[in-house]
Amino acid sequence: MSTTSTMICTRCNKASGDVDKCSTCGTRLSTLKSQQRRGWTALGAGAFLVVFMSAVWIWVDRLLIGGDYQRDATTASFTGKINVAFALVVVAGVFGVINGRLMVQSGRRNRVLLFGLVIAFVSALFVACSASNMYHGS
Ligand SMILES: [Zn+2]
Repeated sequence: MSTTSTMICTRCNKASGDVDKCSTCGTRLSTLKSQQRRGWTALGAGAFLVVFMSAVWIWVDRLLIGGDYQRDATTASFTGKINVAFALVVVAGVFGVINGRLMVQSGRRNRVLLFGLVIAFVSALFVACSASNMYHGS
């Protein structure tokens, strides 16, 4: 099976039979290989995010549980929010890994996954911000 000549339109997000430019939207086509390379990059970045954030998450949890912070209701609530923020970032990383894996296979991005990734990441930032505001504001 020869896949070297397969071209992908990144705008229409589909394989194209055209050689240079997409006949539908006029965008310059990418080769399947270059899209697959991007897929590996996305997969690596997602995997790094999952591993790195999980490590920081465990570290922060140990730090918070280790002290006598839990008696403070504000800090307990802060810890809860931080846990949610970390979980959302890990979820975003997992979406990135799945999206990268699909891109390596087909050369196409999965818009639903990318949408989920962005939503999870923005929610994580939002939760982290509200947690830190709450903590410093008291
Ligand atoms: Zn196109």
